[in-house]
Amino acid sequence: MTNRRKRQKFRKALIIASFLLFPVTIYYLSPYLIVIGASQGIITGSFIVFSALFLISLVFGRAFCGWICPAGGLQECLFLAKDKRAKGGRWDWFKYLIWLPWIAVIAVVAVGAGGFTDIDFFYQTDHGISVAAPEAYIIYYAVLLLIVVFALICGRRGFCHYTCWMAPFMIIGVKIKDILKIPSLHLTVDQSRCVHCGQCTKICSMSLPVDEMVKTGRMENSECILCAACIDNCPQSVIRYGFKGD
Ligand code: SF4
Ligand code: SF4
Repeated sequence: MTNRRKRQKFRKALIIASFLLFPVTIYYLSPYLIVIGASQGIITGSFIVFSALFLISLVFGRAFCGWICPAGGLQECLFLAKDKRAKGGRWDWFKYLIWLPWIAVIAVVAVGAGGFTDIDFFYQTDHGISVAAPEAYIIYYAVLLLIVVFALICGRRGFCHYTCWMAPFMIIGVKIKDILKIPSLHLTVDQSRCVHCGQCTKICSMSLPVDEMVKTGRMENSECILCAACIDNCPQSVIRYGFKGD
């Protein structure tokens, strides 16, 4: 097995393992608990994780989505059931219809509580475990259902494209790092080697027009999750990871 295949196998194993741990971690990624915590002046685990995702994206872009996110793991399992390309593109803004009002609600309830006065990383978990009571399963399965419905109706990683409340933190981070040219993980390309087979576009986890991106030499795309599927499936080794500020 080539190193490139091994890398994709390792990535898939990692992201599926993260999905299997979702009953433990779901409260640290909860859009609801951050609001309840803010209404009590408490910085919760999800507040800290979302802030960390923003900071990490300044250097690693959206690699969290491609390599670690439990919702990503579930959606990649669903590729087996339905592997249709998502439309993406002009509909990607849809997630901000959820994200912006949600951020506004967090700010309003936090101000109403007189600001943040306490930190509780393990807020509402049981010894750090999220799904520890029967009623927590209702929330857990409701979130799974939301992810599954979007992925099956909208195509590959449909939930990431249109619904995810975590993605905007990292998209903003990616835009900032690109503007400030912060040295960071990104895709580089050697256009002269490309034979225009389209394999990179066909395989892209986020249904991006990768061959077009290669043609123009502009590989920056805020929906790119740096999963390396295009790198590892290009027969000509046109695309590579790079790490610098240009
Ligand atoms: S898979 Fe490689 S060779 Fe084929 S179109 Fe994409 S970059 Fe070009
Ligand atoms: S462009 Fe490549 S690295 Fe980015 S999401 Fe698509 S397959 Fe993954």
